[in-house]
Amino acid sequence: MHTLPNLGYEYNSLEPYIDEQTMRIHHTKHHQTYIDKLNAALEKHPELQKKSAEELIKDLNKIPEDIRTQVRNHGGGHVNHSFFWPLLKKEVKISGEISKAINKEFGSFDDFRKKFSEISNSVFGSGWCWLILNKNKLEIIKTSNQDNPISEGKIPILGIDLWEHGFYLLYKNKRVDYVEAFYNVINWNQVENNYKRAMK
Ligand code: MN
Repeated sequence: MHTLPNLGYEYNSLEPYIDEQTMRIHHTKHHQTYIDKLNAALEKHPELQKKSAEELIKDLNKIPEDIRTQVRNHGGGHVNHSFFWPLLKKEVKISGEISKAINKEFGSFDDFRKKFSEISNSVFGSGWCWLILNKNKLEIIKTSNQDNPISEGKIPILGIDLWEHGFYLLYKNKRVDYVEAFYNVINWNQVENNYKRAMK
């Protein structure tokens, strides 16, 4: 049985950038629903119940066809949100290896930020924008719906949830403003950990 991970901080601790109500609904309703639907799909294939959600979505072709779409969507939703929550913390300064790697790959932090915003803002409909490691190279990519880069053999380092459920209560139609505000709540210590683990 897959279960909802703890957030690890208070629902209001990202204010004013992400509001308490959005965080509460996003975590306890949206994330929980992905988990419930993933568990329901796996009832048809008990042999898959012991696998982690990451293992399930890593190679979707191995998933039986009758539940493949559910595993892709709800397993992906579970993996994405479990990855997302620890990435959020207010006003953490970028430092360490990830800072050097970003400067090396994108020229400067501002150039990285510009490109990450551009690609985030170009997502049509629901999806995510990611900083990923592809063969030890940092890249920025987007995915649709709840697709995760690990299904393409890439390792996510940072991601922003661009579904309306993640920002609409506070930002309404102004997704651009949400993307700008996101830079105030990136937990660069967690990004650094993700980067170091991925480089191993
Ligand atoms: Mn979401």
